[in-house]
Amino acid sequence: MGAITGRFAPSPSGRIHLGNILCSLLAWLSARQKGGRMVLRIEDLDTVRCPARYARQMEEDLQWLGLTWDEGPGVGGPNGPYEQSLRTALYEEALQALRDSGLIYPCFCTRAELHAASAPHREDGQLLYSGACRSLTPEEAAKRARTRPPAMRLQVPDREIGFVDGHMGPYRENLARDCGDFLLRRSDGMFAYQLAVVVDDAAMGVTEVVRGNDLLDSTPRQLYLYELLGLPAPTFFHGPLLLAPDGRRLSKRNADAGLDDLRERVTPEELLGKLAYLSGFNPGCAPKSAEQLIADFDWAKVPKTDICLPERFL
Ligand code: GLU
Repeated sequence: MGAITGRFAPSPSGRIHLGNILCSLLAWLSARQKGGRMVLRIEDLDTVRCPARYARQMEEDLQWLGLTWDEGPGVGGPNGPYEQSLRTALYEEALQALRDSGLIYPCFCTRAELHAASAPHREDGQLLYSGACRSLTPEEAAKRARTRPPAMRLQVPDREIGFVDGHMGPYRENLARDCGDFLLRRSDGMFAYQLAVVVDDAAMGVTEVVRGNDLLDSTPRQLYLYELLGLPAPTFFHGPLLLAPDGRRLSKRNADAGLDDLRERVTPEELLGKLAYLSGFNPGCAPKSAEQLIADFDWAKVPKTDICLPERFL
């Protein structure tokens, strides 16, 4: 086995919460236990929602937690810049390569049209694109582009794309049936997460992606992009999400789960020890540093279902 490179890829749209911390901890432990390196990449494609001050705060929070990185903001490295907002030339290049192979097409559908089209819905309630713009002729597309800048969509194949997740086991999707042609660039020019994450993980030499299981169903799309771009795909581990005590998705609104208050009251060791306990790999609630948890960490002990936070975390 070659050297492992893991990564943190936070979207700094607010203060880091316990769910983000669990995900970062799992990524760090999984890579460090194998003697791997860590890269920090700031996923700030949406520059309005992700102002730089949130990113700096996130870096500071990760440092406080002892979740170190070897490459990224503040450290540098050969594959920078490490902020997606500064890497758009690379995404443009990838888009051009896909355009050259005739696999993408401009899409002029408005949000209202997308909803109105009698497209079947995905299991998770998301819209499956109807394919309305797939058959526009170049002339029609050029004409429509005069009044509305298009988004760019990737045409997907009617075949299963599967992989074996390091934590969740085998997973597969038929992209045409389960996902539909998906966006690579929005009409306002913002590149899609799916494209940026593939381009960046490959360019940064990432070999192991650890993230929340809410992204499990993005993986076949990303694997398809790796294939089309001729890039080596990493291995994937999708870990459990942390849920609020009432079983709902944790969000920035759950004040208890935010770091503002917690950092005033607890040590990083207390926080990580408790998180690791809730995640099955710290035998008790004893405070432990990230370094100390390396010895306890075992993916086999981590639940495959989401974890509910207790009423009072600490
Ligand atoms: N930036 C994404 C997030 O914070 C994570 C993307 C990934 O890990 O692939 O949810």
